Amino acid sequence: MPLDAECLFCKIIEGNIPADIVYRDENVVAFRDISPKAPTHVLIIPTVHVENVAELAKMSSVITASLFSAAKEIADSEGLDGYRTVFNTGASAGQSVFHAHMHLLGGRPLTWPPG
Ligand code: AMP
Repeated sequence: MPLDAECLFCKIIEGNIPADIVYRDENVVAFRDISPKAPTHVLIIPTVHVENVAELAKMSSVITASLFSAAKEIADSEGLDGYRTVFNTGASAGQSVFHAHMHLLGGRPLTWPPG
């Protein structure tokens, strides 16, 4: 599936917008959130342009699995003993960038429920 020339996260994948990239493989790219909500706040995104995780679920499960295995690898490399993964799906759930992304949060006690 092609990248979207108008998409912020596609531009990061292509290297056209700078990002603090912490992990990359053939299926996913991960970089630090520009407005971190925890000491570790990394966004893990598929290297295909897909609007959200609901759309991603219609595609190869290999990509979805790669998001979670990257999260585990990054959490280990950040030394996290626990972490939270979040997908905001749709504007009403707080999604502001419409390229599917997993938030990986950790490095402080995380309360529940989230707001
Ligand atoms: P969401 O609100 O779930 O769509 O998450 C989008 C996230 O992207 C927010 O946490 C933003 O802080 C983050 N973000 C926006 N622009 C950038 C950027 N250029 N580099 C890194 N993170 C970004």
